[in-house]
Amino acid sequence: MLRSALLAAARSARCRTVVEHTPVMRPIVDRFIAGTTVDDAIRTAHLIAADRLVSLDHLGEEDTTDPDRAARNVEAYRIALRRLGDEGLATKVEVSVKLSALGMAVPADGDKIALENTREICVAAAAAGTIVTVDMEDHTMTDTTLSIVRELRADFPSTGVVLQAYLRRTEADCADLAYQGSRIRLCKGAYKEPASVAYQSKSEVDTSYVRCLRILMEGRGYPMVASHDSRMIRIAEELATRTNRSAEDFEFQMLYGVRPRTQREIAARGFRLRSYVPFGTEWYPYFMRRLAERPANLTFFLNSLVHQ
Ligand code: FAD
Repeated sequence: MLRSALLAAARSARCRTVVEHTPVMRPIVDRFIAGTTVDDAIRTAHLIAADRLVSLDHLGEEDTTDPDRAARNVEAYRIALRRLGDEGLATKVEVSVKLSALGMAVPADGDKIALENTREICVAAAAAGTIVTVDMEDHTMTDTTLSIVRELRADFPSTGVVLQAYLRRTEADCADLAYQGSRIRLCKGAYKEPASVAYQSKSEVDTSYVRCLRILMEGRGYPMVASHDSRMIRIAEELATRTNRSAEDFEFQMLYGVRPRTQREIAARGFRLRSYVPFGTEWYPYFMRRLAERPANLTFFLNSLVHQ
């Protein structure tokens, strides 16, 4: 119930105002968000890239219906990508994008606008010497997201895409997409979805994750194992051994601020570990999804309110 309430609050303007204007939230926000500016993101990327890989996510306004806002988001990526190239970070740092922040919700032409905007980011990424991964949002966007990625891959074959194990369709999507060179980030899924399309219990989601992981590991693509769950990490290692994948043939991914010690340990054991680093002024919905994943984060916040 708490998870549902937090996910509903992620879309509430009133809750947003409260969270943004409550000073004790700041340290918790800072734990998950690298800052609001490109400088903040680049500084964090330098620190993490010492022992890990990075994916930078510029937090633009999700679900924007304004083409100008979507264009400003593209510009923010262009600036960040130029800096990655100039500062020698491009071999270790890719970028992640959300299509709803790139114009997909613009009435009438949204899909076309999102495709063209993402293509511009792919061009800028290629010029800098890096690549792009397209995040997955709620289930109403899955088909369009996959078809946009299919089009982008014609020119930019390394473009990655996210699949969410909580969706009932995802095993079939994994099978379709496990081809040579296909970069697939498998996560459990962070949105509130109906039972008609998504598994609801943790155990169902976890077993789906394992089935999907097996398909990806046995396939010919490049699996990106995005989970903080120790069981999923252990199973991914076992599957990689069983399918003769070397440490270069797949990677682990975790969110900035979540299990940082484990992130460093996995990298120290010789695996690729990519930290997903969000930055930007529109951090609120992303932040609320992180609270929803682990209500203990909220308890920490409530304790600090009581003891301030
Ligand atoms: P869980 O079973 O949720 O958690 C396992 C353990 O990890 C928990 O017990 C806890 O110890 C720790 N943990 C998990 N989350 C947190 C947290 N927020 N704070 C503190 N500890 C935590 N979802 C999408 O829907 N679309 C995307 O495009 C997407 N991209 C992602 C990219 C990356 C790199 C990662 C790591 C996740 C992404 N997610 C995305 C989020 C994902 O779907 C899950 O909601 C999130 O990762 C939690 O699931 P879990 O696999 O870590 O397992």
